Amino acid sequence: MKHLTEEQVREIREALLDMRKRLLESAQEQIRDPSNVTFEGGDEIDRADLEGERYLTFRIKGREARLVHKIDYALMKIEAGTYGVCENCGAPIPFERLKARPVTTMCIECKELEEEQEND
Ligand SMILES: [Zn+2]
Repeated sequence: MKHLTEEQVREIREALLDMRKRLLESAQEQIRDPSNVTFEGGDEIDRADLEGERYLTFRIKGREARLVHKIDYALMKIEAGTYGVCENCGAPIPFERLKARPVTTMCIECKELEEEQEND
């Protein structure tokens, strides 16, 4: 990550830590928020709805967990000094791109080739 200044790395690091904090907070809120739990009471609980809701909550958690993992990975790479370099072709990833998407591990060209595989 020689193409990044200390200041730029610090900025990205802070953005990552902030992202991580907010993700964990919102995940906790979702778990606590009663509106996320479908339980209307009474005898006529729609079983399919209940299952569906559970599945949705699981999915949200799964997506967030995945992003937290990506953030941790990026932070680890910053520590290791390998951050900001495309994992596919080894090209330096421009600061502007890193700033917009701090968890990215690939340059735009490689990411576009991958787009169909992972659309985030
Ligand atoms: Zn690349």
